[in-house]
Amino acid sequence: MDLNALFKISYGLFVVGVESKGKRNGCIINTASQATAEPPGLVVTMLKTNLTAEMIREKGSFAVSVLSIDCPMKVFEHFGYRSGRQQPKFVEESEYRSDMNGNPYLPGACNALISLTVRQTADLGTHWLFICSVDDAKTLSETESMTYADYRILKAGGALGKTGGDSKPAEKKYVCSVCHYIYDGEIPFEDLPDDYVCPICGVGKELFVLE
Ligand code: FE
Repeated sequence: MDLNALFKISYGLFVVGVESKGKRNGCIINTASQATAEPPGLVVTMLKTNLTAEMIREKGSFAVSVLSIDCPMKVFEHFGYRSGRQQPKFVEESEYRSDMNGNPYLPGACNALISLTVRQTADLGTHWLFICSVDDAKTLSETESMTYADYRILKAGGALGKTGGDSKPAEKKYVCSVCHYIYDGEIPFEDLPDDYVCPICGVGKELFVLE
């Protein structure tokens, strides 16, 4: 079986936001997709150990911000690289709004807001699968959405809108086998601490593979 074939699947990027018991939290995911049209439904998977996922289990609803192609890198740094256990999210009141369920979203960085209620949760082992109905949806700008492929080009120092070959090819690439994030930090991957986790999906170092 060629698991690299799975890397050919394209994904969007989203910030998931939840407010539960007076605390706000959020993280970046690439695992939201529309499942049904009538009535509209989405499915979202999240790592069970993720604090945002725990809070969604408590609250039963959450907000999905669809990230725009011009989303600033600081959004990835804030929501992708650290858990809400270490760093509070949705702190700057000027940068987020709350949806109809009180869950936070990012009007400045996203082109759409989708407010969801969890109808069923399936246990996928490492992940929860949230099967959701759409409570509300709003288009916030006409800017196109950022794909995971765009993000990888940006992180590699390339420019978007050019096809082929503009991103710097790394000689040895360590790739998250769950979400396909490519490690591109300054510290060699082998030298990262044992508690390093994927900034997108939160799995440990042992689930990265050399591509
Ligand atoms: Fe990952």
